[in-house]
Amino acid sequence: MAEEMKVNPQRAKQLAENLQSVVKTIQSSNKAGKNVRLIAVSKLKPATDILALHQPPTSHLHFGENYAQELSEKASLLPRSIRWHFIGALQTNKCKGLAEQIPNLWCVSSVDSAKKADALEKGRANVASSGETGEEKEKLRIMVQVNTSGEENKSGCEPNDTLELCKHIVEKCPDLKLQGLMTIGAIARSQATTAETENEDFMCLRETRDRVVENLGWKQEELELSMGMSGDYEGAIAMGSDEVRIGSTIFGERPARKDAKVVEDVGEAKG
Ligand SMILES: *Cc1c(COP(=O)(O)O)cnc(C)c1O
Repeated sequence: MAEEMKVNPQRAKQLAENLQSVVKTIQSSNKAGKNVRLIAVSKLKPATDILALHQPPTSHLHFGENYAQELSEKASLLPRSIRWHFIGALQTNKCKGLAEQIPNLWCVSSVDSAKKADALEKGRANVASSGETGEEKEKLRIMVQVNTSGEENKSGCEPNDTLELCKHIVEKCPDLKLQGLMTIGAIARSQATTAETENEDFMCLRETRDRVVENLGWKQEELELSMGMSGDYEGAIAMGSDEVRIGSTIFGERPARKDAKVVEDVGEAKG
């Protein structure tokens, strides 16, 4: 539990500085002055790193994880006040468990099929019926991941299939809330992105959003855009992103997946 987790004060200070510097860059890129949510992407990083940023002075709320097992472990160790985002490649057989077992799962950002939406709906519906207080339960937020770059190895639904999937979530999944659209985009385009050059992936996501809201009869601001990572978030914000997902700029380079540890070896850390 949290009290057994020792946050290294030097590491905590470094992480807080990194986060604050990202927050500043977000503010200066954000000419339109809208609210941009920052997800600190903590995949493959130890739980103590997350705890450090969730504590004062930063008291950061939103954290993103890519692997179901790792997210489950971290969620069970860390405070319930954290708002978890599942942003990784989503397997249909993991959906129900995720929605059911992590009460503070705030958003699933990587839904690209009706099957996955249905499985999440099933899991969330179970949470609903088990609530004893009778207060209205919060819906699980969903982002539809769109493959804007047309790369075969990228997950995400085709831009042209996005409306249909969005409609499915709105009409058939009462325990889910369609929150927005998410893209990762092609690395080459990301590397070419500056505050001045418009990234084609971000343009595609924006156009897809415009078509979806028009068809649903929603306002533009009712469907968020999740775009922008460490390498390209300034340009993404300039193009209207509502949410950026930043990992390495905050936490540093990630270890290989096989070397990652949720709980660090205390003996080793003491030296
Ligand atoms: C890992 C990851 C990020 C963060 O990437 P960085 O380049 O480290 O900022 C953002 N979004 C998704 C979907 C990811 O998998």
